[in-house]
Amino acid sequence: MKHQIPPRTLAASCSLLSVAMVFALGAWTSRAFAQRPAAAADVEVVQLRPNFYVIGGAGGNVVVQTGPAGVILVDSGSTGMADKVLAAIRRLTPLPIRYIINTSMDADHVGGNEKLAKAGLSILPGAVVAGAGLGDDLVSNFGAASVLAHENVLTRMSAPTGQSSPAPAALWPTKTFAYRMYSMYLNGEGIQVLHQPAAHTDGDTVVFFRRGDVIATGDVIDTTRFPFIDTKRGGSVQGELDALNRLMDLSIHNLPIQWYDDRTFLVPGHGHTYDKLDLLEYRDAVTVVRDRVQDLINQGRTLAQVKAANPTLGYRSQYGTDSGPWTTDMFVEVVYNELSAKVGRTLSGPATREPK
Ligand SMILES: [Zn+2]
Repeated sequence: MKHQIPPRTLAASCSLLSVAMVFALGAWTSRAFAQRPAAAADVEVVQLRPNFYVIGGAGGNVVVQTGPAGVILVDSGSTGMADKVLAAIRRLTPLPIRYIINTSMDADHVGGNEKLAKAGLSILPGAVVAGAGLGDDLVSNFGAASVLAHENVLTRMSAPTGQSSPAPAALWPTKTFAYRMYSMYLNGEGIQVLHQPAAHTDGDTVVFFRRGDVIATGDVIDTTRFPFIDTKRGGSVQGELDALNRLMDLSIHNLPIQWYDDRTFLVPGHGHTYDKLDLLEYRDAVTVVRDRVQDLINQGRTLAQVKAANPTLGYRSQYGTDSGPWTTDMFVEVVYNELSAKVGRTLSGPATREPK
């Protein structure tokens, strides 16, 4: 059943009534946060929780969390849409943008970094001015909002001095972390930025808002197609499955009382908001395709034969696409290449995969 929330109504009104309506409609809406264009803008705003919104139509989805400390964004959309994203945020709240968290280095997720950071305000400008030992311009971003990402995002966007970088320096993250996660407590909730090594890319993070129970997944989930495994930038099918399984662990469905709507919301990099059941289907689709391709490889089939055997049967209509930059064929090919490389390693000696 496809119910749509009129975004402008929700964005414009913060009355208890509208919030109550969101939850009343929630039972039907979670799989169908299909986003209807707002009348006066090209971006679409959908309210998930009283203080959580998704801005769609600006490249990758932009998650907006608001609270007393200000605005926290997950991803910033594409550069060309930054003005519209900013205008949409301004319609939601006058509070300053404090953090932008990037889920990967993709242009349609980091493109608005410069404009939105400069429109914001560092959460620590006073400490820097006062010389309180926090004079970390990377944290304060010279007074603008901080842009936080895994270190691999910066590595892939930048280049050694003297060489031209893949992305303009103004879009680079200003604060990076190299470990499994980065945590902070803002707007009354714990926020965990969890690195997913080698999934869609090698710099993916999922952002878990613990009190709001909202997870921004970046392109680990793309509801419009099979996950884009960017092998040129460190992505892998096994890492993608690991990330989807991690999300399964973090998500909770509305059990045992199914007529309540309480549950985890997962905002994908592209497409409509998922709950745990949607995620289960997506995870299973990737797993089943992987297993079918493995079976065919075990039978000695070539890539052409694997493709001809249609290993995405049953999932093609939901996640498949034969056009655009990431087709079903390309997905199958990446799965085949990764699995056959693994077979090659096994034949020629011990696998070099590091233990997890
Ligand atoms: Zn994306």
